[in-house]
Amino acid sequence: MVTADARGTVAFIHLGAVAANVKLFLDKLTPGTELMAVVKADAYGHGAVPVAKTALAAGATWLGVAAAEEGRALRSEGIDAPILILGASNSEQVRLAVQDHLDLTVFEPLAWNSICYWASALNETVRVHLKVDTGMGRLGVHPDSVVGEWSQKLSDPRVVFQGLMSHLATSDLDSAYTAQQLEIFLDVIEAVRQHQGSLPPTIHLANSAAALRFPGTHFNLVRVGIGLYGAGPYPKAPRLAPVMQITAPVTMVKRVPPHTAIGYGKTYETTSWSTVATLGIGYADGYRRAFSNRASVLLHGRRCLVAGRVSMDQTTLVVPDDVAVSVGDSVVLLGSDGDDQITADDWAQWADTISYEIFTGISGRIPRRYIENVDKGKKSGPMEL
Ligand SMILES: *Cc1c(COP(=O)(O)O)cnc(C)c1O
Repeated sequence: MVTADARGTVAFIHLGAVAANVKLFLDKLTPGTELMAVVKADAYGHGAVPVAKTALAAGATWLGVAAAEEGRALRSEGIDAPILILGASNSEQVRLAVQDHLDLTVFEPLAWNSICYWASALNETVRVHLKVDTGMGRLGVHPDSVVGEWSQKLSDPRVVFQGLMSHLATSDLDSAYTAQQLEIFLDVIEAVRQHQGSLPPTIHLANSAAALRFPGTHFNLVRVGIGLYGAGPYPKAPRLAPVMQITAPVTMVKRVPPHTAIGYGKTYETTSWSTVATLGIGYADGYRRAFSNRASVLLHGRRCLVAGRVSMDQTTLVVPDDVAVSVGDSVVLLGSDGDDQITADDWAQWADTISYEIFTGISGRIPRRYIENVDKGKKSGPMEL
């Protein structure tokens, strides 16, 4: 099989940048607040195991995954930190979670029944986090059902009521709505305190944006995803260290006359004598078709426009006349080269989406190469190779 590896297209994952980002968040947290590294979806495409190990070594104390299988993959690598499954679990997944000592999020009665069933069957106590819908409108129990209906269920000896949590819908945008969600969450916390005389040990609400913007949402744990990977959780966020860098070698160079059509649909036509270079990366790799005639890349530190349609496996560039280019030259599609930098947020803008979708869309065809932070002394330089 011809892989992207054979084409030389690579995603370098700078683990030192993950560690730097964890430390930046820890510096900004209210003392006593812990950090959950959210490594769902294979750490947003960066590789769950190396990212999880790096984040834990840098001071994170929890891991967050989407499903039991993701948690199991971490446990099988010897990771014994607490792991919370953030999403829904069917009965089979609850069984896996109980066996692997993964914490479960609970928000509806059917899953609750399988938690009790598997706790009995496997003779284990299961740690659960009750999720309250304070305004996200997705997973979560109604705030009014926490005391009474759910506190009753959670007093079952087969479970440990470990956490009370909610999720913010607009922490990157709308602070008034965030304040409203926080207020509802605080009311729930107070009601539980009065009803039980104590609180579950872990109270958590904040994602990356809230962790940086709203200290009032910290409680004793924040759940950080996108910020770990160095993309901005909200416009004008503090500078984080980009983790992923994608490069591809030039596979062909040609000099073409004016009025030469480039690529499918003839969407680009040269206006003068031009140098056209081809790269072995395309939309099957996650280099989006929406980038056609919009994106730019860095060749020897200089911007080159993506000219014509991005195709499945290939992309074409127009190279400025004063830039020398040869087959085999390395082009930076994501990351820095010289003084210039292309970020996941740039990609997101070109494709009219968010960095989360960009990262998770980098396909498995692009091999990930892990770079440890060998050089601790010098100006951190996560993008220096
Ligand atoms: C994915 C996720 C997060 C992380 O959000 P970021 O915006 O990436 O920091 C936090 N909490 C829950 C419940 C999630 O599903």
